[in-house]
Amino acid sequence: MPSRLNNEDIYNLIQQPVATDLIEKADVVIAGSGPVGMTYARTILEKTKATVLMIEVGSQDSPVIGEHHKNSIKYQKDIDAFVNVIKGALQTVSAPPADTYIPTLVGDGWTPPVSENGTSTLIFQGSNPNQIREKNLKASAVTRTVGGMSTHWTCACPTPHDQEIVNNPIPKDERDKLYEQARKLLNVHNDQYDKDSEGDDISIRHNVVKKTLLENLPGNRKIQSLPLAVERRKDNPTYVTWSGANTILGDPTRFDGRFRLRTETRFTKLVPDKNDPKKITSAKLRDLKNDRDIIAMAKAYVITCGAIGTPQVLANSNLATQIPALGRYLCEQSLSFCQIVMKNEIIDYIDKNPDWKARIEAHRLKHKGDPLPIPFSDPEPQVMIPYTSDFPWHCQIHRDAFSYGDVGPRADARVVVDLRFFGRQEIKKENRVYFAGEATARGEWVAGNTDIYGMPQATFEVERSQKDKTNDQKMMKDMCAVASLLGAYLPGSDPQFMEPGLALHITGTTRIGNNPQESVADPSSRVHGFKDLWVGGNGCIPDSTGSNPTLTSVMIALKGAAAVVELLNDSQK
Ligand SMILES: Cc1cc2nc3c(=O)[nH]c(=O)nc-3n(C[C@H](O)[C@H](O)[C@H](O)COP(=O)(O)OP(=O)(O)OC[C@H]3O[C@@H](n4cnc5c(N)ncnc54)[C@H](O)[C@@H]3O)c2cc1C
Repeated sequence: MPSRLNNEDIYNLIQQPVATDLIEKADVVIAGSGPVGMTYARTILEKTKATVLMIEVGSQDSPVIGEHHKNSIKYQKDIDAFVNVIKGALQTVSAPPADTYIPTLVGDGWTPPVSENGTSTLIFQGSNPNQIREKNLKASAVTRTVGGMSTHWTCACPTPHDQEIVNNPIPKDERDKLYEQARKLLNVHNDQYDKDSEGDDISIRHNVVKKTLLENLPGNRKIQSLPLAVERRKDNPTYVTWSGANTILGDPTRFDGRFRLRTETRFTKLVPDKNDPKKITSAKLRDLKNDRDIIAMAKAYVITCGAIGTPQVLANSNLATQIPALGRYLCEQSLSFCQIVMKNEIIDYIDKNPDWKARIEAHRLKHKGDPLPIPFSDPEPQVMIPYTSDFPWHCQIHRDAFSYGDVGPRADARVVVDLRFFGRQEIKKENRVYFAGEATARGEWVAGNTDIYGMPQATFEVERSQKDKTNDQKMMKDMCAVASLLGAYLPGSDPQFMEPGLALHITGTTRIGNNPQESVADPSSRVHGFKDLWVGGNGCIPDSTGSNPTLTSVMIALKGAAAVVELLNDSQK
């Protein structure tokens, strides 16, 4: 067999009665090992006797499948160091070719030839000549590793406001129950920074930031602790355990070998039946380690490769023309950011508070000369101002690592607080991601230019409407008002909008709904018209939200997984 298989090779192979190492069989194949893929895996494995084969393009970087890297004590002691982990984990989706004119290159070094229109750009591997700069989500990125983005995420899991859930086709009663299950699966808590079992404050900084806002921010803002997928460690409460894909899956040994994970294997495409294009016969995979194609066969296929990777697999399977909503109705959040250094008044309040006196004295005894009344091990603040009708954005007032915002030697990290405000985007069909390539006369999809993993290159066409821009401006004003209650801007982290795409919260690209013209999958995330094909991830969210999306994606996936279970049970009858 050749190392690259076409559809004919695959049709021949799957009809072979003899066993071959080119075919992997399972009851369910899941593409992607992020929290959503794990939601499907766990539900199916617990509710049936089925076997699950999970395909992940990335490698397993932690001994525990898909664990959050921030559980390392190293990063809990030095959160700034985690910024580099995130930077390393993010691979951008669409970068226009760089301007490679080097005016100082005067010797005999190679330079790109000047084209007819007088420019000289170099198309390097991974760059996208089709990307229009003004319509790009430049900072949009994917994370290719076992566990997906849940190996580094911030874990914020607010439940969206009713105004953020208007298109979701799952009825409210059912949704509420599924949200409850999703919170359990992700181990969401909103009290891990407030008080311990003795009633003592766990974090001085958290309590003082929350109190300052509660007492001074006008309007009914519902200020509260940020719901996080985290639990304080019982054996050592100085540290916490952040939830990752492993939290959702649980111990895989309890499934007695029914769960298999193939790493560094690309899910290339779905292969439809020759006579029935709405039935999937198999999936073509690429074993990246051995550089060869293999085939997976199952009763159900679940694609959970993220909001870009999932429509990419569907497009590469030549389904883009059959599914008009694929990649469309894309929403991404605007993100405003600043960091402040807490006010003298707040530091004085900490110093004089009798509740914290003993801790501060103990700290000062050990670290003589420290002018700050905050123990080094004091946990960071984790406060939320939720989305409300009057202030339709989601606000995190906290301290955490992103790919930006490290404090470094600029200030004492204990007095720095981050403000991140997430704004919505109007839902428009025109806002989309599309994938380079075309169908041949034989009906096979041939990719045009490809990304560095050989999949069709994603190109964004996304613009913010005037309504979005006006809303963003109001959100910025609100962030500045909140910041001024807490302190002064840290130089270099003054109020700013971050690059489009940096929220990493793209939704809509495989949205669920009842109308096949306006959505990709039905309320159970089953692709319209197909019996055996499901999609999962933030792309399934049919709404525009300010709230972080993962909790909602897990909620939607729980319903999807129940439908897979039903299909498996029916096939037993
Ligand atoms: C810095 C940062 C902070 C964040 N903070 C929050 C937060 O506070 N709250 C929140 O809700 N969300 C947050 N997120 C986003 C959150 O991590 C994602 O919403 C969540 O991980 C999505 O889960 P998923 O399973 O759908 O996709 P992912 O986690 O993206 O996993 C998809 C997996 O599919 C794999 N894959 C892709 N294509 C293929 C292919 N062709 N074949 C095989 N495998 C493939 C990828 O390698 C990846 O492992 C944050 C993310 C980052 C990076």
